[in-house]
Amino acid sequence: HFEHLRQEWAKLVSAPSVSADGKKFEIASNIGTPTDLADVSKAGADAVGLFRSEFLYMDSSSLPTEEEQYKAYKRVVKVMNGKPVVIRTMDIGGDKSLSYLHLPKELNPFLGYRAIRISLQRQAVFRTQLRALIRASKFGQLRIMFPMIATLEEFRQCKAIFIDEKKKLQVDDPGIGDDIKLGIMVEVPAAAIFAEAFAKEVDFFSIGTNDLIQYTFAADRGNECVSYLYQPYNPGLLKLIKHVIDAAHQEGKTAAMCGEMAGDAVALPLLMGMGLDEYSMSSSSVLRTRSTMKSLDTTKCAELVEHVLNTALTNDDTQKMVKEFLGK
Ligand code: PEP
Ligand code: MG
Repeated sequence: HFEHLRQEWAKLVSAPSVSADGKKFEIASNIGTPTDLADVSKAGADAVGLFRSEFLYMDSSSLPTEEEQYKAYKRVVKVMNGKPVVIRTMDIGGDKSLSYLHLPKELNPFLGYRAIRISLQRQAVFRTQLRALIRASKFGQLRIMFPMIATLEEFRQCKAIFIDEKKKLQVDDPGIGDDIKLGIMVEVPAAAIFAEAFAKEVDFFSIGTNDLIQYTFAADRGNECVSYLYQPYNPGLLKLIKHVIDAAHQEGKTAAMCGEMAGDAVALPLLMGMGLDEYSMSSSSVLRTRSTMKSLDTTKCAELVEHVLNTALTNDDTQKMVKEFLGK
């Protein structure tokens, strides 16, 4: 049976990502290093929806130079050959430390000095990364995404610094970087709750459910003692996700998801029913997702979402309703 499925999926490598009723979506890959690119093309992903740039910093004993970063970003963008590549700026802190940054010891690292909070305070590091990204954008469709955004001011500061670096590069290379889209990870509840304000200013959202769930339930995503609180189907969380998607669409912006939930088989009909545009996941999940997507009708998925949001009260309730819907 599994062999049969694999053969079915293999046929979908170059197929579009569409629902049974012909609605177009985008199924993308998450990557951690440029060497993951082989899997992206094998899976026939429509894009790279999340390139975690941390490896550049983690694999090095000192800050990676602009040139080193430029080469890595350029390679990814070139290999993707015009398909979108979303590169996330440095997300260090939390459980990822860097000896050469000399970050302070913290009692609550996940609530502390992490990601964009570091970038905005150590601007030289941030500016180097942005310059490398802007230069690499000449070779394809590069998008920049900022992690752990909690407030509008943070995004505005990021955008201002980006524009500043772009202008400097444009002195020698007019127009460079002008088509780069800027987006945010929606992974801090404050940003999700106030998505309508962010949607007016950003080009796209990508919902980071790994952290959004951790922060919404106040439960460390790596701590097994509290893993029962990692509840992707909790109706409260689903309402929050729907709010983010609706807010993006209200302003004509794209809503993506790049946390684990984007490649989850139970979540798929719910997310399609909410109209999520882009699903970014491990390359190994792309074809399975594309195959299931092809069998789902978006109108029926939307009815499922309405049914769940009106009647489910627990994670289990939702799970049962979806499984019934899928005929499992
Ligand atoms: C997330 O938080 O969902 C996410 C995709 O980012 P990371 O797992 O790298 O924190
Ligand atoms: Mg995250």
